[in-house]
Amino acid sequence: MEKDNKEKVEISKNFIEEIIDEDLKNNVYNGRVVTRFPPEPNGYLHIGHAKSICLNFGLAQKYNGKCHLRFDDTNPTTEDIEYVESIKNDVKWLGFDWGSNLYFAADYFDKLYDYAEQLIKLGKAYVCHLTPEELKEYRGTLTQPGKESPYRQRSVEENLKLFRDMAAGKFKEGECVLRAKIDMASPNMNMRDPILYRIRFVEHYRTGKKWVIYPMYDFAHPLEDYIERITHSICTLEFEDHRPLYDWVLQSLNLKECPKQIEFARLNLSYTVMSKRKLLELVENKYVSGWDDPRLPTIAGLRRRGYTPESIRSFCERVGVAKRDNVVDVALLEHSLREDLNLRAQRVMCVLRPLRLIIDNYPEGRVEELQAVNNPEDPSAGTRPVPFSRELYIEQEDFMEDPPKKFFRLAPGRTVRLRYGYLVTCTNAVKNDKGEITEVHCSYDPDSLSGEAGGPKAKATLHWVSAAHSLPAEVRLYDRLFMSEDPGEGKDDFKADLNPDSLKVLQSCRMEPSLAGAQPGGRAALARVSDRP
Ligand code: ATP
Ligand code: MG
Repeated sequence: MEKDNKEKVEISKNFIEEIIDEDLKNNVYNGRVVTRFPPEPNGYLHIGHAKSICLNFGLAQKYNGKCHLRFDDTNPTTEDIEYVESIKNDVKWLGFDWGSNLYFAADYFDKLYDYAEQLIKLGKAYVCHLTPEELKEYRGTLTQPGKESPYRQRSVEENLKLFRDMAAGKFKEGECVLRAKIDMASPNMNMRDPILYRIRFVEHYRTGKKWVIYPMYDFAHPLEDYIERITHSICTLEFEDHRPLYDWVLQSLNLKECPKQIEFARLNLSYTVMSKRKLLELVENKYVSGWDDPRLPTIAGLRRRGYTPESIRSFCERVGVAKRDNVVDVALLEHSLREDLNLRAQRVMCVLRPLRLIIDNYPEGRVEELQAVNNPEDPSAGTRPVPFSRELYIEQEDFMEDPPKKFFRLAPGRTVRLRYGYLVTCTNAVKNDKGEITEVHCSYDPDSLSGEAGGPKAKATLHWVSAAHSLPAEVRLYDRLFMSEDPGEGKDDFKADLNPDSLKVLQSCRMEPSLAGAQPGGRAALARVSDRP
């Protein structure tokens, strides 16, 4: 069933492409296709944003159009330049290019202000002095119509003067607002004379102290799209009920070749929170180490977790574009990464919990360079030398003194293969006075080296490193950040579902010497360790 759906998504066009095709056929925008990705710089981008980025930039590529990167920075309180830089970096890293089309909504504040004056002159906006509590009360409810404001019939001249006074800082915060004059009885609450501008005595990270009034999203967004000559303005489903207002703003100002808003279902992932408010709470209160903590669904976190841009893009492609909200299994995201790294990541050997293994019949002081395959999926990746010697480390869990039936790894009398190396047979184990095993002794078969054909068979192949040549390493093992599919569901606090074991730090690991020059951000798959689900 799931497979059928996926195939359908791949072969047929999605509903947004159908709309664009229709517009192209009818020459609505003179053959232009211009989309935009409009993040608010109030947090780091997450996998949901990646979905929107792939969709918007992807459509531009497909239709030979353009996609703008626009910072939707009309709210001065939460925005910051740090976020602007991280967002640019993440979009680029995902593999998309906005070219010269980088815009900031704050750069349109003058234009937006002029449009607001025009609305006033057209008799379609008024300054309202109701208090915030009264505004709420007058708005009505879903079942009851709202009430008209006593300030609704002010003259154009009076409204213009008052609006200019608002902009000049002559009123206090909350003392008045500019509202659209639409319909207080509309069944759509968004159309009940919504607020267009409010007073905020807050400095803006781009415009400084210039403004003390700031436009509301529903007023600013359609005009930002219009100013940039966007054709298809794609947003998530919560904005469906705002579309009449989006259209009202543009139509009331008699604008031509207006953009059209199209809604699609936002990406939700199981075991994941994506709300910026919740992510900020996790970062600020140090539940995670920062916005780029590998357990977060942020692009920066996924990058540190080892995700490639290709794996994220292929995940977004697989998920497709839906019209109705749904939850995608996080396992699909993880699978996209495995699939990609499987083809590309260099394999290396690293022992997480070392146990010393001594090959008694191997000459002391001798070192052999064995050839290890870099990537079994990709012969062109070649091989690398790994030093082999008399004393090695293997994983503690790969040895059992008294093994149960189904354990095929090392035990007294058992023979296993050391990957890319020899067969070894365990002779005995040494314990300390606490009864813990401190080293195991083996003998090796000098004629058993694994060559092209793999050498004689053993029931298990273990990874290992040479004790003297390996490097000390700290390994951080990350698990899912939340224990429940829908974090916080049925609880007061989503943090109650945090997984206490989401990070394990192992300090005394040993890795093969080829990793000595590894750079931050590099990727390698730990043989046998990374494979485990
Ligand atoms: P907030 O949680 O503060 O409302 P947001 O997640 O909507 O913020 P924005 O910066 O406004 O963040 O988002 C930029 C763009 O990314 C918007 O067009 C939005 O529709 C889209 N987007 C955000 N979250 C998702 C998601 N989970 N799936 C798909 N698109 C998303
Ligand atoms: Mg938003």
